Amino acid sequence: MTSVEEKTIFEKIINGEIPADIVFENDIAVVIRDINPQAPVHVLIIPKRRIDRIEAAQDGDTELLGKLLIMARDFAKSHNLTEFRLVINNGQQAGETVPHLHIHLLSGRSMAWPPG
Ligand code: AMP
Repeated sequence: MTSVEEKTIFEKIINGEIPADIVFENDIAVVIRDINPQAPVHVLIIPKRRIDRIEAAQDGDTELLGKLLIMARDFAKSHNLTEFRLVINNGQQAGETVPHLHIHLLSGRSMAWPPG
């Protein structure tokens, strides 16, 4: 997995080094539209402070992690979404491609379970 020394695409977006469709930003996180959407609504909630993945989260990150979920709630509410899915991929086999923790919020179509 990529080391913390190497900047991720999300850090470059957060730093303004590369453009993104930022739909919301506050002091702790950004919400951007996924470049390769898997549903009519597909955004990523990304903490500004990098945590590689959920397995790397510390007990001290509890408040931050909670706030990210509240941001997902607020995004859904402000976009009148009552049916949506939140996903965090941890590790390559689970579908992780960017080693910077993020929550996917997907909505606008029916979804299967179990996921592929
Ligand atoms: P994951 O596979 O869970 O690590 O999710 C990474 C997500 O980031 C994928 O859904 C990609 O489509 C998305 N992504 C990669 N590069 C960009 C970018 N420049 N702007 C927006 N989304 C991106």
